Amino acid sequence: MIYFRHDPIIYFFMIPSIIPVASTRQQTNIAYQISVLSSQEHLFEVTMQVDFSKSDDIAPASVNVALPAWIPGSYMIRDFSKNLHSLKSQQDHIVIKQLSKQEWEISTKDDQALKQFSLRYIVYANDLSVRSAFINDEYAFFNGTSVFLCVKGYESSAHTLRIRQQKDSLSPLIATSLPKADRQETPPNSDTVYKTTDYFTLIDHPVLMGQFDDYCFNVMGHQFHIVFSGQHNFDFMRMERDLSAIIEHHITLFGDFPCPEYWFITLVCDQGFGGLEHTDSTVLQYSRFDLPFVGEPDKISKEYQHFLALCSHELFHTWHVKRIKPLLMHQPNLFEEVYTPQLWIYEGFTSFYDELSLARTKIISPAQYVQVLNEAITRLMRNSGRHKQSVSESSFEAWNKFYKQDAGSINHIVSYYNKGAVIALCLDITLRQQSNNNVSLDNVMKYLWEQHGKTHIGTSDTVILDLCKSEFNIDLSSFLYLATQTPIDLPLPTLLHSIGLKLNMRSPNHFQDKGGPAENIAKYDIGAIMAMVNNQLTVMSVHEGRASCIAGLCEGDTIVAFNKWQCDDVRFCKLLNLCKIDDIVPIDILRDGRLLTLNFSVVRALPDTCDIAIENSALFLQWLGVDQL
Ligand SMILES: [Zn+2]
Repeated sequence: MIYFRHDPIIYFFMIPSIIPVASTRQQTNIAYQISVLSSQEHLFEVTMQVDFSKSDDIAPASVNVALPAWIPGSYMIRDFSKNLHSLKSQQDHIVIKQLSKQEWEISTKDDQALKQFSLRYIVYANDLSVRSAFINDEYAFFNGTSVFLCVKGYESSAHTLRIRQQKDSLSPLIATSLPKADRQETPPNSDTVYKTTDYFTLIDHPVLMGQFDDYCFNVMGHQFHIVFSGQHNFDFMRMERDLSAIIEHHITLFGDFPCPEYWFITLVCDQGFGGLEHTDSTVLQYSRFDLPFVGEPDKISKEYQHFLALCSHELFHTWHVKRIKPLLMHQPNLFEEVYTPQLWIYEGFTSFYDELSLARTKIISPAQYVQVLNEAITRLMRNSGRHKQSVSESSFEAWNKFYKQDAGSINHIVSYYNKGAVIALCLDITLRQQSNNNVSLDNVMKYLWEQHGKTHIGTSDTVILDLCKSEFNIDLSSFLYLATQTPIDLPLPTLLHSIGLKLNMRSPNHFQDKGGPAENIAKYDIGAIMAMVNNQLTVMSVHEGRASCIAGLCEGDTIVAFNKWQCDDVRFCKLLNLCKIDDIVPIDILRDGRLLTLNFSVVRALPDTCDIAIENSALFLQWLGVDQL
């Protein structure tokens, strides 16, 4: 069934009475309300009321409230409290004492028991990303981690939220997967109150308010929404067709779907990209003109393929990250880093399945999927940091390395997404080899779901090793140790050969070469990532030990001339190819306003670019699970 639906916003005229919680044991009541104070100034106004008086909890002398420092799924301290301002109580007898950048103690002037208190604060929301909060003239968006103070020690109490009518001209529409409170629990002056069983649930349902398109459709008996901020003429029918195939693939893989209703919420922007998974929804950020408009040809563009892969990736997390998760990520400490070496299992496996599912559902062809592999393996092979850091270390150090990359990262760290996906590919092939093609990674995912997702039992660091041994009697200790605990390269050529693919490595032919078939490949090594920035060829990063590094080039250098000829990115490659091996060529650069001339030694190009050939199409198609090329 296909239909459009908009939730009416709550019309709200007075501070709500505290909403009783229906349970045999009366819990402390924590109620928030939020409204846009000014879209032009990007301000939310938040009030919260905490009532211990009607609960079975003993009223404390004081409590601490705090705003999270990070949001689950994005492993970096972001200090959301930097945007929280003007924290005040509306009651004279309440004392607020700041304890740290993100935490406050709430007590009474007379040191009496704290029976009830209310707070009001402002949140500055001007970060257009999937991770925090943002308001413009079209819409307001927030994650709970950016706007809702946590009452520490009372996270397990029921939390309620009311969204007040905007005080300015924003459209009164809401898109969110937040569960609505029962009718009898809502005061008569409003239509809807949201209610969650605990704080962690409250912050895992982002909210979009204002102007947006909402397209609703049904897959295998489950309701899905595609929401785009603003107003556009996107081809929703096409997206429904393609997303339905992906959704069916994922539900069939895991066996069931855990959400009552699911929302793909996209923040449409001029230029941008991002995705973050949530319990019953995902928030995406995507460039407006990279999405399919009504009337455009049905041929899949690279940009639309990436959008579908993003949707596929985030939806996969509904099972694998939101429900199957490391032990420490169940109700994690949101006020400091939470370290786990397991992110390769989560982001790596999900990255493997996101585009594999596009091929299995025939949204992309087998040849297009080979190009996906070309690009993933090329990224890995150009990353010399893979020889220094294992994916377990990369996962553990994500907080201050993967999430804080700079020009030197390529030489020192490996991506647990990129190598994790290639490990998933190798693991899948290895399982098939060792089980006479009876066991694949699909079976592992199904067991993870049964044993850890449905049961809410956190995964251990050895979960994959243990599961393969106990369920399939396959010992992967050697493979998993080398693949995940060491920086040794994976046995890709032999594994790909067993599914009918031949791994060829060649040199790149230009700066944008991501892998795959190419003509006129480069003869000589550059060994640096360069790009045109403000019409100047600029060094973005330098690979250690390679030609640019030996010449003395640094990140940030601007190339003025190569071999005395002014050059851009295309001409640089052409001029280099005109050289002879062992030539020493002058290269003029600008570095921080100084003109320097370096000597560039011409050496043979390195084969760091992947170009896979299908050498046995029957084997490859059998592995892919499709019937023709
Ligand atoms: Zn992910």
